[in-house]
Amino acid sequence: IVQLYVPLNWFGTYYRAIQKNFVDMENMFDLLREEQEVIDAPGAGAISVKRGGVDFNNVSFGYLPERIVLKNITFSVAPGKTVALVGPSGSGKSTIIRLLFRFYDVDTGAILVDGQNIKTVTQESLRRSIGVVPQDTVLFNNTIKYNIKYGRLTATDPEVIEAARGADIHDRILQFPDGYETQVGERGLRLSGGEKQRVAIARTLLKAPQIILLDEATSALDTQTERNIQESLERMCANRTTIIVAHRLSTIIHADEILVLREGEIVERGRHENLIGQEGVYAGMWKQQLEARDTSSADNSLEQST
Ligand code: ATP
Repeated sequence: IVQLYVPLNWFGTYYRAIQKNFVDMENMFDLLREEQEVIDAPGAGAISVKRGGVDFNNVSFGYLPERIVLKNITFSVAPGKTVALVGPSGSGKSTIIRLLFRFYDVDTGAILVDGQNIKTVTQESLRRSIGVVPQDTVLFNNTIKYNIKYGRLTATDPEVIEAARGADIHDRILQFPDGYETQVGERGLRLSGGEKQRVAIARTLLKAPQIILLDEATSALDTQTERNIQESLERMCANRTTIIVAHRLSTIIHADEILVLREGEIVERGRHENLIGQEGVYAGMWKQQLEARDTSSADNSLEQST
């Protein structure tokens, strides 16, 4: 019995350590508060992601058995396309993202990436092919270089610089006291919200995943910063399959499909113009955001207007 318990225990500790690293990077998932139950199937192989197509087929899920959080969610994101998730707080947007990253297994239905059920492949290989840009990026108490390199630890210095340029933060870094060697984070140089977002973009550019999950920041940055970040994000997402949790509807006007969630169900879907024309939930949200923008130029996030 002792022999059986020791390795299991060790595995548990090791597993939690891995999870903790994830929290550091992808803190949008708030993993520490959640018991992780997902285990790779015996003999699971690595997923092969070439094009990056994503399918949710009739997915239902609840964190607790007595409360269903997602009901019969079905949608596809063709390789390179962008799907946006919108809806009130608690409607299930982040849960969809967490399921695709396989922090939980679906109760019924299936999630496929390039035709492969994500339940049947290793979590490590799945997560390697998906980039996450969280709302608020956590920085390590380390150099700015390390913080960018975290996207791919084997990256060379020129590759780090190229990623920083792509995220439009290279020139800013050169102004730091020690350039790329400058210590950042809690105990070093504090970066602004916009700068942290750029670090997240640079990391993701280094990781170069086929699929990107983007959790749009709710806190509004000033308009010019916002516009610049938007451009970097668009470059990063070009030709990559993107799922974006959107709070400002103005950023998803060009999304290939918008899914409007309410209480775990897709209640409307389509492109921006179609949804505006329907005069339903989305059109109402759009109107509210326009009004909020007129009355308060400082913050026109959905959170504020709903
Ligand atoms: P927001 O816009 O506020 O981030 P959301 O649309 O992303 O909201 P989710 O985070 O997906 O919503 O939450 C959907 C539902 O699941 C909510 O009712 C929430 O309370 C519940 N929920 C989320 N995480 C957990 C958890 N770890 N355990 C139990 N219930 C949870």
